[in-house]
Amino acid sequence: MATPTQSDIDRLAALAVPAGKLLIDGKWLAGEAGETVVLSPINGQKLTTTAAASAGDVARAVASARASFEAGIWSRMPPAGRKAVLHRLADLIEKNSLELAVLGVRDNGTDIGMALKAEPGSAAGTFRYYAEAIDKVYGQIAPTADNILALIHREPVGVVAAIVPWNFPLMVGAWKIAPALAAGNSIVLKPAETACLTLLKLADLALEAGVPPGVFNVVTGPGRVTGEALALSMDVDVMVFTGSGPTGRRLLEYAARSNLKRCYLELGGKSPNVVFADAPDLAAAAKAAAMAIFRNAGQVCVAGSRLLVETSVHDEFVSMLAVSAEKMLVGNPLSLATQIGAVNSDVQLQGNLGFVSDAVKEGGEIVLGGKRTLLETGGYYMQPTVVTGVRPDHRLFREEVFGPILAVTPFRDESEALRLANSSDFGLASGVWTSNLSRAHRMVRGIRAGVVHVNTYGGSDNSVPLGGVKQSGNGHDKSLHALDKYTDLKTAWIQL
Ligand code: NAD
Repeated sequence: MATPTQSDIDRLAALAVPAGKLLIDGKWLAGEAGETVVLSPINGQKLTTTAAASAGDVARAVASARASFEAGIWSRMPPAGRKAVLHRLADLIEKNSLELAVLGVRDNGTDIGMALKAEPGSAAGTFRYYAEAIDKVYGQIAPTADNILALIHREPVGVVAAIVPWNFPLMVGAWKIAPALAAGNSIVLKPAETACLTLLKLADLALEAGVPPGVFNVVTGPGRVTGEALALSMDVDVMVFTGSGPTGRRLLEYAARSNLKRCYLELGGKSPNVVFADAPDLAAAAKAAAMAIFRNAGQVCVAGSRLLVETSVHDEFVSMLAVSAEKMLVGNPLSLATQIGAVNSDVQLQGNLGFVSDAVKEGGEIVLGGKRTLLETGGYYMQPTVVTGVRPDHRLFREEVFGPILAVTPFRDESEALRLANSSDFGLASGVWTSNLSRAHRMVRGIRAGVVHVNTYGGSDNSVPLGGVKQSGNGHDKSLHALDKYTDLKTAWIQL
């Protein structure tokens, strides 16, 4: 899509946002548990309301998913049919991409430049990727004895519950919805309270594209009401989740208390970005390290939030990074000039500020930022913040902030770098900057994380899985591997 003009964006941003409803069995309905007021992080003002689904609403959504699955209107549709529908959905996302991006920015505060690329742009690509996979991934015949025919079928699992967070709702939502639908399942989606609007629009586009009623249901509402009811359902086969560790723990409990549904959890991170003195270009690495933590105001699961720097270049590197970070413009996320938009909510902002004060109490030194900014807007903005002297026992080293705060820790040699990198309960992403090829490979092998970037940070492709180890979760989004979560293997053992 061509870069939009500021006036295109402003025109869409001036439109009133209609109240959000629940999508159950192809019908848009009010929620039995009332409404949730949506505040825009841009100015703290009411943007709209969304429906709050009661346990009864959730049960109806699950029942509609089950009925559509059993009826076979989607699950037994010829693969070419499902493929055509998902391609049509991708077309519609592309056609509505500016509207989706602006709506999402008003809802969650991501800067518009990033929203355009990472939200509708990425989601359309994800639907196309899995649309294309539908008729390329299929069963096998096992090499058994000559008088036996053993067929290994891949079948859809049935009803999938997807619970997603607020930071990139369309992108992360598509990572679940696209492979689940491609495999022939019916789904019930539960978006985050503070970022539902683009996913409601996506569901509407899915109906328009031809996803049959009941196959894609959306229930909005508080996690402890709507999410909990969905996770406790006795008729959900698989639950896929992206969000925080504490919620992930609850979901496992709910699964144990209900029908032992399979749970795949994509959780948080505290990812180390390790800079050796022999990095190919320290200035470029400093700029990339600033982007790695400050893009989307640090609200990125793979953010490089722990910077580990070799002592000999520590001071030089930190000052280059601080110069880059200071130049990043914090402002109204609807402005094309903005590089760091709003923090998603006041709760999130207050949490970030709490991390800064604890870091100072524990002996960290703020070398950049540390404060709320643009207070006059009424929105939730925070300066990019760099804290040096952070030790492994500090809260800022151990806990995920999910905000624009970088913890910096020096190291003396490779073994200390590896020890510090792995001193975490998390294991989502990481980065290594070095010109030494052998060291790069040793670090890739040594770091316990789902992703190790070398001489870069970030970057992704639909063909490449994303997932964590340790308390960053299990299972992977993206790539053909993700289809394993949405399909069951069934064996037919036939005596010839
Ligand atoms: P969260 O856990 O607070 O909420 C996520 C979702 O869970 C929301 O829809 C929420 O309503 C729901 N929820 C909350 N309590 C629930 C309950 N008791 N039962 C059922 N559902 C419940 O997380 P968040 O603040 O929305 O998102 C930020 C977190 O997501 C961070 O930890 C971040 O690292 C993580 N994240 C991970 C990835 C990844 O790929 N690993 C990607 C993006 C975000």
